[in-house]
Amino acid sequence: MNSADVFIDGKWVRPSSGATLDTVAPSTGKKIGTIARGTAQDIDLAVQAARRAFEGPWGQMAAVDRGRLLSRLGQKILEHEDELTALEALDTGKALKLARNDVKAAARYFEFYGGAADKLHGETIPFLSGYQVMILREPRGVTGHIIPWNYPAQMFGRTLGPALAAGNAAVLKPAEEACLSCIRLTELAAEIGFPDGTINLVPGLGEEAGAALSSHDGIDLISFTGSPEVGVLIQKSAAENHVPCVLELGGKSPQIVFADADHTKAIETIVAALVQNTGQTCSAGSRVLIERSIYDDFMVQLTRRFKQLRTGAHDLDLDCGPVISKVQQERVLGFLERAEKDGVQIAAQGTVDPSSSADGYFVPPTLYRMVPRDHELALEEVFGPVLAAIPFDDEADAIRLANGTDYGLIAGVWTDSGARQMRLAKAIRAGQVYVNGYGAGGGIELPFGGFKKSGHGREKGFEALREFTVAKTVVFNHG
Ligand code: ADP
Repeated sequence: MNSADVFIDGKWVRPSSGATLDTVAPSTGKKIGTIARGTAQDIDLAVQAARRAFEGPWGQMAAVDRGRLLSRLGQKILEHEDELTALEALDTGKALKLARNDVKAAARYFEFYGGAADKLHGETIPFLSGYQVMILREPRGVTGHIIPWNYPAQMFGRTLGPALAAGNAAVLKPAEEACLSCIRLTELAAEIGFPDGTINLVPGLGEEAGAALSSHDGIDLISFTGSPEVGVLIQKSAAENHVPCVLELGGKSPQIVFADADHTKAIETIVAALVQNTGQTCSAGSRVLIERSIYDDFMVQLTRRFKQLRTGAHDLDLDCGPVISKVQQERVLGFLERAEKDGVQIAAQGTVDPSSSADGYFVPPTLYRMVPRDHELALEEVFGPVLAAIPFDDEADAIRLANGTDYGLIAGVWTDSGARQMRLAKAIRAGQVYVNGYGAGGGIELPFGGFKKSGHGREKGFEALREFTVAKTVVFNHG
């Protein structure tokens, strides 16, 4: 196998165009490898192979055996933890400790869904006398998966784990900016012995291989994680073929801090949840909403902590690494420049380690104070290490602010009042609400997904198995 191959029908082969793409290390801007530039033809072959697997040996395999294969892949990932960690950190620029966490999470997805494969069962429904009704949960068939560059290894497990556990055969199009771990994970999966065509991998450009997959009429479901703009394109092309979509499209998630909260604990978590993966996380808590009576005191502490943050190459293992690409660096710096022009004040900035390469894509972690509620820093997803602090007056105001963006992915509520915790949890329109905490180390077991522009459908946990299956009603008239 060559890293510039595609994996179709159990074989590593050159992409039909023979073309490749360079991939670079975000910490240095230097080329570290080549990947395939898959085409519509490769996607078509991959979809056909997946269909054969679904209608053949994979589709006929007992659930327990499917589960065993997935569990073995989880085990194999752990056996290659060091190697995958180094590869993921180099390719994405993320700190080694985070990459290690991601590799463990990838393994955990396959363990979780391996265990779940034979526990997914249907129902019976009481109906008219003389009838028996069964609801079968059947796999969708061939599933298409388009994933982003921020968590390639985790996303591999998050999207393929439930799809395969439910009995689907899959075609995966990873992101062109970072997919070396997905290539290696596919290679490990191939060694496990999944039937040919069960997993197909076609790296390539979004507008080529990605668009070909989302518009293919041979798929039964598309699962996409990425930007809202591309999410719209994908839904439109899938709609042409009446293909349903599960979409996870990012957020502008709030951390809501009331006066009675444990501030020290809140600050540690708020900072960690923002700088994780250098802010390039859909669920980053990128707004901190602070009760006005404690705003000044809280900001003093938050500022002190923020100034300690350090950014540097992935192998320095600091708080933040580089962002993924030059394009992303310019995009994030654009937010900083416009904020300066608009007079939004910086409360604190972290430092970029002096040893960092001038060609790496570094952005200092930045905390803004008193961000106006209608400013883009309060409303738009930056996807970088940028935190916007905004005061609120009372509980009703906090809820209004929390729900006042186009997004609704996750939220953190910091208060000691049990009744208020419950009121906020119910009032916030987000797929996950954390009380006195935020995020959960991958949260494999926890259903995850958006309201509003953050997308629809649910991933993770058993909810993902429901998305990757469809209910069939069978009615027996036995008289
Ligand atoms: P980001 O802004 O995080 O890079 P994108 O939405 O651009 O997110 O990319 C997420 C994934 O979607 C990547 O695998 C990318 O190649 C793919 N993609 C980008 N454009 C398209 C498109 N027009 N059709 C299908 N997939 C696309």
